[in-house]
Amino acid sequence: MTRKINFINIYPSEREKYPNWYSKTELKKMKLMPKINVKPVALVNRKHYDSYYLYDIEKTTEFKLNNKQKNELKRRRKLNKEKRTCRVCKKVMQEKDRYYDQREECFLDYICKNCYDKIYKQHQEEYINNLMNENITCLDVETTGLDSDDEILQISAINSKGEILINEFCRPEFKTAWEEATWIHGITPEQVKECKSYVFYKDKVQKLIDEADVIVGYNVYFDLDFLKCNYEGKKIVDVMNIFAYVYGEWSNYYKNYKWQNLINCASYYNYEFESHNSLDDACATWYCYPRASFDYNFNIYDYIGREK
Ligand SMILES: [Zn+2]
Repeated sequence: MTRKINFINIYPSEREKYPNWYSKTELKKMKLMPKINVKPVALVNRKHYDSYYLYDIEKTTEFKLNNKQKNELKRRRKLNKEKRTCRVCKKVMQEKDRYYDQREECFLDYICKNCYDKIYKQHQEEYINNLMNENITCLDVETTGLDSDDEILQISAINSKGEILINEFCRPEFKTAWEEATWIHGITPEQVKECKSYVFYKDKVQKLIDEADVIVGYNVYFDLDFLKCNYEGKKIVDVMNIFAYVYGEWSNYYKNYKWQNLINCASYYNYEFESHNSLDDACATWYCYPRASFDYNFNIYDYIGREK
């Protein structure tokens, strides 16, 4: 026998579209509950935490309990108290003690704000140190534009320690003007007219890629397309992808997290920078990479035990 599933799946951000739909907890606060045999109309999906059902407020009745329900309520209250107790410091949390997860738009159970911050900082430092011990080349280019016939104007790369491996301005072989791009990065034809073209540096860039284990960049495949180097077998990390998830701005249209620009990412990690020069971009990417990567992987319940 198949049971007909007649609720829809939605994301938390879509709830505003359905003002008449409430969770049981919300209904209870209004002294209401779904009528007997009324099925939920929607399931709200959250990434890390439990999903929950919504009910139509038109199909509710006044909140009353029989004995079985009273016992259930008792059990839930006990569980609730457990959830409100920090597993680390054992303190029963008030609203102000709780950790609010911006990404998932909810308060966390079993962990207080203080303990969360402590555990986060402790593991973040260790994680960053380990990650930056890897053999990384973090690179960025500035170009005359976004099309395939556009050319490189500046190439910069730094290693795990933040030391500059290459930082060169390049004169395009074909393009003579790129006004729109100048508006973004400020590199003018005048500025590069005495420079060598990118082909002169290509072997050096290939060598830098060959010597690295991990290639890091912000929207890194854009840069790799322009560099025309071989990066087969290398681990490629696009910080833009990682940060999109960390930042967590959901697009209902794409059913995915929206990409954020490097300026947003840098400011999220309190890294001050303005210019759109490829060396500055490479440095900002280098700074954000281990932090975003840590946030991408960090889940407090890996350290304090799973939710029950
Ligand atoms: Zn605590």
